[in-house]
Amino acid sequence: MKNLIDGKWVESSNGKTLNDINPSTGEVFDTFPASTKDDVDRAMDAAYTTFEKWNDLGSKERGRIIRRAGDLIQASRKELEDLLVKECGKIRPQAIDETDGVLDQIYYYSNFERKLTGDVVEGDTSMRKIFQYKVPHGVVLALTPWNFPAAMVARKLAPALMTGNSVVMKPSSDTPVIAEWLVKKFQQAGVPDGVLNMLTGKGSEIGDYMVAHKKVSLITMTGSTEVGQRIMEKASANMSKLILELGGKAPFIVWNDADIEKALTTLVWAKFWNAGQSCIAAERVYLHEDIAKKFMEKFTTITKNFRVGDPESAQMGPLINSSAVKNMEQVVNAAKENGMEIIAGGNVPKLSGKFSKGFFYSPTLIGDADQKSSVFQDEIFGPVIGVKNVNDWDETIKLANDSRFGLASYLFTEDNKRIFQAAEAVRFGELYVNMPGPESSQGYHTGFRLTGQAGEGSKYGIEDYLKLKNLYVDYSREKLKLSSVPGF
Ligand code: NAP
Repeated sequence: MKNLIDGKWVESSNGKTLNDINPSTGEVFDTFPASTKDDVDRAMDAAYTTFEKWNDLGSKERGRIIRRAGDLIQASRKELEDLLVKECGKIRPQAIDETDGVLDQIYYYSNFERKLTGDVVEGDTSMRKIFQYKVPHGVVLALTPWNFPAAMVARKLAPALMTGNSVVMKPSSDTPVIAEWLVKKFQQAGVPDGVLNMLTGKGSEIGDYMVAHKKVSLITMTGSTEVGQRIMEKASANMSKLILELGGKAPFIVWNDADIEKALTTLVWAKFWNAGQSCIAAERVYLHEDIAKKFMEKFTTITKNFRVGDPESAQMGPLINSSAVKNMEQVVNAAKENGMEIIAGGNVPKLSGKFSKGFFYSPTLIGDADQKSSVFQDEIFGPVIGVKNVNDWDETIKLANDSRFGLASYLFTEDNKRIFQAAEAVRFGELYVNMPGPESSQGYHTGFRLTGQAGEGSKYGIEDYLKLKNLYVDYSREKLKLSSVPGF
């Protein structure tokens, strides 16, 4: 695959490439350019010089182009689904769901055409007004992760382009081909040369240079908190605006009056969806002790029997790479050393044939998890989950809030008062009550604490791609006297 710079698909300036690996088999799936500083400069120049023209096109026309990209994706969606299975290891139904999600984002954002409004505010004296209106930032640097490699690309490209910004995107080095496929659809739909550019390469090698590039005005990044913090530091070079969607550690509370079956089904989804590699994954379960035994019996049986393997037929596919498997092993070993019980899983499953070299890990359940342990404090990002019994409501809310991260949280109870108490008390961007996620395009996906800043989705998410500008106008007929100017 290649980079897209100023409308042309090109190699990196020094011709170097990196390997893209199929996580189900460990085999090389493709190669991608290891971009250089020179490539970055050329992509930034192209985005910088074309952005005003793109903005001048108006939102009606931009909306039409973005919708056309959606139509092109829909027409050949099976190719995208196949890539999601092969390059990312998604099980087939989840590849189909993610493709639906891509289309939902694109059509949702494209419909903001002619809907962006501002304010007219009265001035300090009569016959004066302040017009507050929104303009694009300019060049958006979009950095995307591998866990939802198509949905995250769509969720950044559609609002950034819709609002009249131009884009330089760098997708995850684990899933560049999916990003390339989507970018081609936007190009075919009519996004002009230079407005949308894509560069691949290791974030650890070219990331700092991209982030601090003087032509960038806004950086939107979905990824880990560690990288988000580094971006924040480097972005100070330009005072770039930041949209950072970072790590999560969702608490999952099941109270004693909960609909147990609903909670169970949701937990299976919230932990094993995408092999637990989701920012809104349930990462720590707080079970009311009255229902804990019954709940755990059922959840243990489900966990032990969950089918892992070939993404075309299993319930759970591989993790993204070998270091993700090592992370699971570390979490489980540390839990064992600290006396926690491994109730189910805790191993690399033995798979045959081509899948024997894939990056799989068994669904794993850790009992009696310690609140202070890594199991309950660090983002696991895989199919491993800890459970702790609770009985006091206020204490449970305190435990839920005791996290560096603050993205999603879950509550199962039939008590309306508790629902509203939790809504007030939990310090998370999302609380799902008696239901699974994921977030909707019309919701504002955002988090507290180290989960980042700003958000995506809804009118608030699209406004994050815009800057508010002020026009001060005096339309009185009176002469301006120095004595009426402040300070004289
Ligand atoms: P990551 O390692 O932080 O990488 C995210 C993106 O940043 C990749 O494109 C990566 O490129 C790039 N990058 C790495 N170092 C960089 C640097 N120094 N400067 C600029 N860019 C750099 O995250 P990931 O492993 O792909 O994704 C998993 C994380 O994403 C989890 O923590 C998860 O919770 C989070 N996530 C959050 C949300 C949300 O909405 N809050 C949604 C999905 C995922 P390379 O691939 O080349 O390293």
